[in-house]
Formats: sequence, structure tokens, C-alpha cells
Amino acid sequence: MSTFRPDRVKTEKKAARIRILGRPVDCLTRDGAAEKIFRAWERKAFFHVVTANAEMIYRSTRDEVLAAVIEEAELITADGIGVVLASHLLGRPVPERVAGYDLMLECLKLAAGNGIPVYFFGARPEVLPGAIAVASQRFPGLQVVGSRNGYFEENEEEKIARQISMLKPGLLLVALGVPKQEKWISRFRDKLPPCVAIGVGGSFDVLSGKVRRAPGWVQRAGLEWLYRIISEPFRLKRAADLPLFLFSVLVQALKKRF
Ligand code: UDP
Repeated sequence: MSTFRPDRVKTEKKAARIRILGRPVDCLTRDGAAEKIFRAWERKAFFHVVTANAEMIYRSTRDEVLAAVIEEAELITADGIGVVLASHLLGRPVPERVAGYDLMLECLKLAAGNGIPVYFFGARPEVLPGAIAVASQRFPGLQVVGSRNGYFEENEEEKIARQISMLKPGLLLVALGVPKQEKWISRFRDKLPPCVAIGVGGSFDVLSGKVRRAPGWVQRAGLEWLYRIISEPFRLKRAADLPLFLFSVLVQALKKRF
């Protein structure tokens, strides 16, 4: 494996970990997260990456299993403006937003450059091949050892995990949506080979071109959540958690102060 060379050179030695509504979040840049992932490949360790957004953290306050899964994960990134804002409110700001989609692309780039085999798990059967095709075209040399769409019966889960184990991917992208993907990774982590497993939500839909991501300026303005609600109105109900999340964080911040 070649030496890690991030595009933006500054990387953290030992990243701090903060707590938002009781959940851990690592204070890392995207390069810092990528470096940790690379080191896990070097160590040949199982490494679960959770890209935590406000919705997920708020949900985990009512879902004990999800809370435990986040707690045991090796890396938790601040995915979304809500989590970034929360870190500021709590006086321990994370250096930047590390969006799941961007981290997935970074991992695919590193995997292609370092001969790390990849497995794509999740999304609709008609979306998955397109996502793999785009990834292979964008990252020449990418070794895709297998794939499986995300629609299956519960009794097929063990078989899928066994198949993945046999193929020994170093990078396992799991696109089943939150919290299914996080719970699946946690449930099978002892049966899977040492690999970096990331829950990537709807990233295969974006990669395949089925869903468009917000333009760069919308992302930079911290309004990607609004763009997603407007383009996919079914998200409105879930987004209602965002103000509740921020209110709970405010209460946490005030409790800390007084
Ligand atoms: N999905 C899946 N199996 C399921 C449910 C969902 O493969 O049983 C896929 C779905 O096709 C989509 C992704 O999981 O590609 C969820 O996308 P979404 O943007 O809703 O993710 P989230 O907002 O939960 O991160």
C-alpha cells in the first residue's frame, strides 16, 4: 500500500471527540477522516464509519440500538450543517462538515489508488449498476469485487454477509438508509472480514445520476437540507426533527453553562 498523501496536507494526529445529545462525534476534517480510514486499511482492522447528521443523532435519543451502534463505531463524522451548528453551540466546534457522499468519493479514490477491493451493497436494483459504472469510470483501477441491491428478505441477511465475507472487500459501502445500514453493519461486524464499512445512505442514487445533489453554492451556504426537501418533499416529515434537534442541543449547552 502506498503512503497516504492527502490533497490538503494538514492532518490531525489525535482527533478530539465531542458529545452531541450524548452521541460521540469526531472533530476531524475530511482529510483527517480519510487518513484514519487509510490507517485502518494498514492495520487490517474492522472500521465502522458513521456519518452522523442531525436527524440520526436526534433519532438515536429515542432508539437505544442506534445509540449503541454509534457508540461502538470507530469513526463518527459530522455530516450536515445541523451537527456543525450544534458543535458551535456547545463551544467545541468541529473543523468542517464531512458529508457522507464526499467521504464515499474520497474512499473510492483511495481504494482505486491503493488496490483496495470494494463491495457495493444497497440501493434499488435499477440504480446499483449505474452507480458502479460511474464509480469505475471516475476512479480508474477501481476493483469492484461484488455488489448486491438493498432489497431483500430478513432471512437473506446472513447469506449476504457470508457472500461479502468470501469476497473480502477492503471497502464496504452500505446504502440501505439510516438506521438500517448502521444496524446491519453493527450486527455483522464480527462476521465480516477486516474492512472499512460505511453507511452511505442515498449516495448510490446520487452517484448513478438518479438524484441530483445540491449545487456547490447551496452546499457551501449550509442549505443542502433545504434543497433536498424541495426536490424530495417526502423528506419534510423527517426534517421536522431538525428544529427539535437544535432545541435539545441548546438545552444541553445551557445545562453545561449553568
Ligand atoms: N434502501 C435500500 N433498502 C431498503 C431501504 C432503502 O437499499 O430497504 C436504499 C434506497 O434505495 C436509497 C437509500 O437506501 O438508495 C436511502 O436513501 P436516503 O437518501 O433516504 O438515505 P438517508 O437519508 O437515510 O441517508
